[in-house]
Amino acid sequence: MNKNHYFCEITGKQTYEKLTDITVAFPEAEKICSPGQFLHILCGGNSFLRRPISICDVSKNSLRFIFEIRGEGTKALAEKGVGDIVDMLAPLGHGFDLSPKDENVVAVGGGIGCFPLLYAAKRCGSVKAILGFRNKAAVYGKFVDDFRKVCEVTLMTDDGTAGENGFTPQGLEKMLENGEKIDKIITCGPSVMMEKIISTAEKYSIPCLASFEERMGCGTGTCLCCSTKINGKMRCVCKDGPVFEFCGQNK
Ligand SMILES: Cc1cc2nc3c(=O)[nH]c(=O)nc-3n(C[C@H](O)[C@H](O)[C@H](O)COP(=O)(O)OP(=O)(O)OC[C@H]3O[C@@H](n4cnc5c(N)ncnc54)[C@H](O)[C@@H]3O)c2cc1C
Repeated sequence: MNKNHYFCEITGKQTYEKLTDITVAFPEAEKICSPGQFLHILCGGNSFLRRPISICDVSKNSLRFIFEIRGEGTKALAEKGVGDIVDMLAPLGHGFDLSPKDENVVAVGGGIGCFPLLYAAKRCGSVKAILGFRNKAAVYGKFVDDFRKVCEVTLMTDDGTAGENGFTPQGLEKMLENGEKIDKIITCGPSVMMEKIISTAEKYSIPCLASFEERMGCGTGTCLCCSTKINGKMRCVCKDGPVFEFCGQNK
């Protein structure tokens, strides 16, 4: 059996709107999982293809992931409950290279892209977060509270129904215009949002680590289904990413 293949028992489950927040028993989690890496999950239902879901957080013996119900796979996965087993390949991909030496980091997340940033924020020496959601109903309060235990969070919504009114790139620009020292940006979210964050990082010459989402097949770089042009080169998002560096030394 592949050494990355795990069958993990669900030990906790919460739901909010279309989101499912799952914790599974995973004794090696802290030792082998890096922030930004993902799980490739056999969701059940009629689909034999696995679905990629980011690692949201890890603790000594467990691993947490949060996902939105989009289609057949995530719908079937959301039906699992405490005591059920999740079949997953884990951890896959190249995550955020971060350490306690990373100071003045800003984590910018949009929608489901906020979830991988929690564990990433815990790895940094000092960090602030800007988390954006469509509207008040889309804000998963428990997750935002968990993030606030790690660092200062600016909450933003597109329509201003919770937190500050506006989009996360505006929040980042505001921090920079106010003269805040930012040494690194980490980001995950919709592609339009990430394009703006990366272009701001380039404008101010700040290294930026961005996590990309592409539809995936194998998750291990064999089927090339998630190949896409990043930094001018064709890259496999599942194997070379999902996190890529911009404005840094390893372009
Ligand atoms: C590296 C990575 C990490 C991810 N982490 C998370 C996470 O932490 N939480 C979370 O909720 N989701 C995450 N996703 C997205 C998640 O994989 C998809 O939502 C899921 O595969 C949809 O499967 P499904 O069977 O439910 O829907 P499908 O029936 O396959 O599709 C339903 C709808 O979702 C869209 N869709 C499917 N896959 C993607 C995708 N990869 N990106 C954008 N749109 C997609 C389709 O176009 C369609 O409109 C991640 C994706 C990647 C690549």
